[in-house]
Amino acid sequence: MNAPRRPAGTSASGLALQAELPICQTDLPLGWYQPELRPYAEEYLALPDRTPETVLPWLDRYVRPAQEHFGEALLLLAHFYMGGEIVKLVERYGGAVADSYALALQAARNPERKVIVESAVHFMAESIAILAGDDQQVWITNPKAGCTMEMLAKDHMVLPVADQLLERYGDELCVIAYMNTSGRLKALAGRTGGAVCTSSNAHLVVQWARAQGRRILFVPDQHLGRNTAARLGMDLSKLAVLPDPQVFGGGYALDDAVVAGGLAALDAAEMILWGSFCGVHTIFSAAQVAWWHAQGWRVLIHPESPLEAVQAADGVGSTDYLWKQVLAAAPGDKLAIGTEGHFVRNAAALGAQRGVEVRHLAEIPGSASGGCGCATMSRNDPPHLAGLLDLLRKGAAPDLNRVLAGDAVDELSGARDRLDTAERAALVADARRALEAMIAITERG
Ligand code: SF4
Repeated sequence: MNAPRRPAGTSASGLALQAELPICQTDLPLGWYQPELRPYAEEYLALPDRTPETVLPWLDRYVRPAQEHFGEALLLLAHFYMGGEIVKLVERYGGAVADSYALALQAARNPERKVIVESAVHFMAESIAILAGDDQQVWITNPKAGCTMEMLAKDHMVLPVADQLLERYGDELCVIAYMNTSGRLKALAGRTGGAVCTSSNAHLVVQWARAQGRRILFVPDQHLGRNTAARLGMDLSKLAVLPDPQVFGGGYALDDAVVAGGLAALDAAEMILWGSFCGVHTIFSAAQVAWWHAQGWRVLIHPESPLEAVQAADGVGSTDYLWKQVLAAAPGDKLAIGTEGHFVRNAAALGAQRGVEVRHLAEIPGSASGGCGCATMSRNDPPHLAGLLDLLRKGAAPDLNRVLAGDAVDELSGARDRLDTAERAALVADARRALEAMIAITERG
């Protein structure tokens, strides 16, 4: 069979699957697999080791027949933050690795691909589904793979608070929903005349909303919201931060006791930040940046990190920006990168091919928090990929793995609340409006 074409709108990661690299995806306990996928996990765990020599022939038994069966209709996708081995496996089988913006566009840009299988977190798969045609199916290899930032901003937590803000500020308020949100929150953005944003275009989207004189509710990441405001030169004293959802949950009544600075601070705010965050990125500090600077290294960081670390760094940007910085570095360059651990490991492998040294920003002697990876995203492992493709070929894939716009997944229990057809159509219309607003703003620059 010919190697499948690379899908439109993606590029190779530049990481060859090297025989000497171990397959070191962390094994999950058997009880964590859906019953339908457990036989594949049992086979995988019974392999004598996790080297490519044993894992690849085992994967070929399931992946190749699925590729023969679906041909060009099948599209495999992974996010840059997936464990390095899944990134390389997806590329080995002709799939594509991208950031969340490029992933979201995959169905729309590749209409001939009818069966799209994603190894990443749920909101990324749902964003693809929102923009997919009626004849395209989106599947996720593990439905329990969620983004913890998104899990602290579920619709039942945010919508009651947003309703109170809409009552207080009326049409003046619009919602900007970071890509790391459910379709239900993207639809809220669309209903309020707002937009979706990513870490690479948040400044453009916020600028667009401010130019219309809108007061912004930014969900869910307080750090990206604050860093974006700083980048735009906004008065940071005019940001209101809603409480930590780990402590307060959501759905609370907005009053002086809940909002820092009270309701007066809320009324004075140009931008109101939901209080969520990414545990992987909040470990970074200005002290870590100073340590690497003292060793003569350049520091690059992702804008989901705290403001003081971002302001101390030499460059800030999305995963796409960080990857391109590694590609553009000259031999002998030394880069400390503050983002997800698997990405940095992949970037280090890429840099090593070209004489560029890459380290994780938190990898400092004596530090307890070095090199943290996105554990929930890594719940998509080789048995999930092999099992789902095999079950899809047999027409027996679990419905839980099918991703439809508006699905609300409880990543802890695996339970799902699915909208009916009419509700889903309304949600897709609203969420698409917000996504298309982002695409138009981004493409205008
Ligand atoms: S790294 Fe953080 S923001 Fe990104 S998917 Fe994982 S938990 Fe979410």
